This record gives sequence, structure tokens and C-alpha cells, in this order.
Amino acid sequence: MTSKQLRAAATGEQRAVDSLPPSIHPQVFQHTVNQADMAISITDAKGNILYVNPAFSRVTGYASDEVVGQNQSIVSNHSMPREFYQGLWQTISHGEPWSGRLINRRKDGSKYLAELSISPVANAGGEILNYLGMHRDITELHRLESQVRNQKALIESVVDAAPMVIALLDVDDRVVLDNHEYKKLQADLGMAEPAPMLMSAVRASLEVDSGRSRRTSGYLFLDREVRLDPPGGRSPRWFSCSGSRVREDDTSTDAFLAGQGHDYLLLVAKEITSLRTQQEKVRVAALQVLMADEDRVSGLRESLAAATFRLEGPLNMMASVVGMLARRQGETDPMSVALAEAISAGQQALADLRSMIPGETREAIGPVNLNELLRDVLDLSTGRLLAAGITVIWQPQAMLPALQGAPNKLRLLFKALIDNAIEAMNTRGCRERELTVASKARLGGIEVDVADSGPGIASAQLLKVFEPFHTTKRGGGHLGTGLSAAQQIAAEHGGFLEIEPTATRGCRVRVLLPLHRRP
Ligand code: FAD
Repeated sequence: MTSKQLRAAATGEQRAVDSLPPSIHPQVFQHTVNQADMAISITDAKGNILYVNPAFSRVTGYASDEVVGQNQSIVSNHSMPREFYQGLWQTISHGEPWSGRLINRRKDGSKYLAELSISPVANAGGEILNYLGMHRDITELHRLESQVRNQKALIESVVDAAPMVIALLDVDDRVVLDNHEYKKLQADLGMAEPAPMLMSAVRASLEVDSGRSRRTSGYLFLDREVRLDPPGGRSPRWFSCSGSRVREDDTSTDAFLAGQGHDYLLLVAKEITSLRTQQEKVRVAALQVLMADEDRVSGLRESLAAATFRLEGPLNMMASVVGMLARRQGETDPMSVALAEAISAGQQALADLRSMIPGETREAIGPVNLNELLRDVLDLSTGRLLAAGITVIWQPQAMLPALQGAPNKLRLLFKALIDNAIEAMNTRGCRERELTVASKARLGGIEVDVADSGPGIASAQLLKVFEPFHTTKRGGGHLGTGLSAAQQIAAEHGGFLEIEPTATRGCRVRVLLPLHRRP
């Protein structure tokens, strides 16, 4: 610093020097300013430069003696709006510090972006005598910031334009970032967040498959096909989901040394509903054939069981009459002998008939999604429901845990209940025809309600309807084994069936099935 500069800057610097602790020599302060890496200038109250440090010369290209005495605007590119400079001066002339970014011009005419802060220096009476300006060239920093911003905008538009659902989830399944398709799905489903539902469906499917290992090359899960049951009984939707782990470095000060970070899950879900609908049609058609076969066999089983049940009574009665006759007339009485032979032939025929009853087919136990199964049964009954003019109200719990069970048997159980409901409502005089099927997870199990708006079951009949061959239906076509067989299947799954008394008309059968069967 020359003596001229020192004198000129004295007013401002002297104040700072005055406040230095005695252990620091004023020259130390002067050296510090001289050697600082920041461009420093001290001006008078009009912005005329009194002093600049070497860093100022390095940044602007002006030597100290080229700028001292000049206005600070010498480094301005004059490209900021007039109001910008007015605002700057308004702030500093009121004794307030100012900071901001502006475009400066070097001596060689090149532009650079400066981050500037100006502090007013006032005397004891509050009169501003000087301004202290400090600035640095942030052109490169700005370029990097802009690059990051551009990249972010680019990634966001690519993610937004992707024809699949993309969501970034934190460890609690909260959505941190999503795309256009995700928002569309959210609006379509009319639910707060579809992502946690997709994730619980994925988890349920992973649980089911826990024994089987699958190659997922870097993914946490890959192409998991899961089903979402939208509220309001709308058709189910299918998604193929993949998930991978994403790690973000923690930007907090505490994490600076520790290198902590946050883990996220990138969920990508592709809708495959139309493909699955086709596959489902084929599957339901095959199921229809299977159920029809099962129906025929179980009809035969029931008819034979009913025939043997009905024959047994009279045969037993006749056997006791023959016993009495033999005691009265003697063992050798030809009539008693002939009758005894006829009865024994009858019993033999009964035994033959019993042996002809087809045995139960043993079915493998596995994880069953009851919503899917109930939907199957409703699909299978569509024709009959439409023909009877019955409105179906389907109220599944959006995500049900998987249940360990025999799918075909469970299908028969619910088909029996739905068949009963259709028959109950498909009678003359039954105007309101509504079938409600609802599912929900409850107390370590699943509860399914099948309710109809038919005539209902009289309270005196409530227990009897579970007895085999008991029927409340008129006409000879019914054997009355539907509810007892359904009860039997529920019991085989460790559950039970109950008929809920209803305040108004109608019948509500509740099925409770535990998730895991006790051995
Ligand atoms: P100016 O002639 O400065 O006029 C712009 C407006 O500012 C005027 O309309 C007026 O309202 C107001 N104004 C100007 N001078 C005064 C004054 N003395 N008192 C009250 N109001 C006033 N500018 C840069 O572009 N780059 C810098 O790096 C920079 N560093 C600065 C450092 C310090 C310590 C100070 C005090 C100012 C600095 N400035 C800087 C602002 C600079 O003084 C000019 O105001 C600015 O460059 C605009 O110049 P101009 O010639 O276009 O307009």
C-alpha cells in the first residue's frame, strides 16, 4: 500500500485497527487484508475507491493505482437493471450491509460473475465515511450450479415422460419424489399414496416366494407382478414392479466427516393390466371347467351320501322287525329267514353304494390371496348374477395378507355361499337384489362377508341350516349340503362360518379363516 493510499484509507481502517486487541500489531491487520484471497476495496461515501488489495487486482486485472480515485463502477458491466444498483445504494447508505450477485467486467473487457458484499463503515456519530467491499469471482461455481440445475431438470423431465410409474421412497415408504404416471395412478385410484400399497403387495409376494431364490442382478426385487384392488369394487389392476436401492449423501454439517447418508428405494412399476386380463380370461375359463368337474363330482358324492343316508333308516328298521319276528316265530321260520336274507342283500347293496362315493381329492396347501379367489368366484358366477338381475357390491380390503389354504376347496366354499345368495334372491317378489362381498384382515385371520338382500333365514332355522341334508328351499332339487360342506371346508382351514342376524331382510354369512392353520 502506498502512503497516499494508506492516508486515504486511514479513516476506515483506523477504526478497525483501533478495535484490535493489543497483542495484534496493526501491521498484522494490514498484512491480512493485503494477503486475503478475497478482492477487497475501501471506498469513500460516494463509492470512490481509496484502497484495493492485491486480490482485487488479480480478479479485475486493474492495478491498484489504476483504480484508486476512480468510482467503484469501473468494474461494473452496467448490465444489471438500474433498480438493482439503486437498491444496493439505498441499503448501504442507510447503514445496512448489502450482499448479492452481479456481472462485473475486467480491465480486458471479459465478464465475470461476482458475489459481492458491502459493509458501511460509520464514525462514532453514525455518519458513513467509507464502504468496505469484498467480492469473489463465482463464474465457475455458477456454471457448476447451473449444470446441476440443468441436469436435475433434464432428469426430472425424462422421469416425468417415462411411460411407467416411478417413485422414490424413504425407509418408511413415504414418497420423496414421483413422476407424472405416479400422479396419474394416484388420481385414478383416488387414494392418498399408491406406493405403500404396491410395496406391501411386493412384500407379500416376496414372502410367498421366500424359499425360491431369483437372480435380480443389483435390484432388490425385479419384475414382481402384483395386483392392486382399487376401492369401490373397480376392476383390479396389475403392475410389474422392480426396486433398487439409491443412496444419498447427507449434506448436514454433522455428516461432513462421518460420511453418513440416506437410503431410498427406487420403485418402478409398469402396468400390465391388459396382459393380465387376457391371461386371467384363459385362467378363469380353465377354472370354470375345473369347478364344473368338481361340482359334478361333489353332486354325485352328495347324491350318493344322501341316498345311503335315506336308505339306512328303513333298512335298520326292517332289520329290527325281522329280529323281533325271528324271536317270536323261531330262527328257522322260512319268512324270517327270507326277510333276513333280503335285508342282508340290501345292506350289502348299501355298502357297495357307499364304496362308490368318490373320495375327496387331496389338494396341496399353499399361499392364497382371498381377494383374487373371491374375484374368481364372482367372475365364475357373472352369468347367473346377470341373469337374476343382481347388483354386486365388491368391497375388498385393498391389501390382504396371504392365507395358507387349499384354493380349490376355498373356491367351492365361497361358490356355495354365492350360489345360495343368488338362489335366495332369485325368487318372485324379491325386488331388491344386491349381493355384497367384503373382505378384511382381522385378528390374525381374514373375515369375508357374503350378504344378500333375499328373504333371510328365520332365527329358528339358524342352527339347523348347518346340518347335512337340511334345506329351507322348497322343491325337491336340493339336498341341503351346501352350508354344511362350506362349514366343513372352513373347519378344515381352522376357521368357521356364522350367520349374522340381520336387523332387516337378507342374510349375511361371515367366514373367518386364520392366516396359518394349526397343525
Ligand atoms: P451509478 O452511477 O452508480 O448509479 C446507479 C444508481 O446507484 C444511481 O441511480 C443512484 O441511485 C445510486 N448511487 C450511485 N452512487 C450513489 C451514491 N454515492 N449515493 C447514493 N446512491 C448512489 N458495482 C458493480 O457493478 N460491481 C462491483 O463490484 C461493485 N462494488 C462496489 C463496492 C463498494 C464498496 C461500493 C460502495 C459500491 C460498489 N458497486 C459495485 C456499486 C457501484 O458504485 C455502482 O453503483 C454500480 O457499479 C453502478 O454503476 P453505474 O455507473 O451504472 O451507475
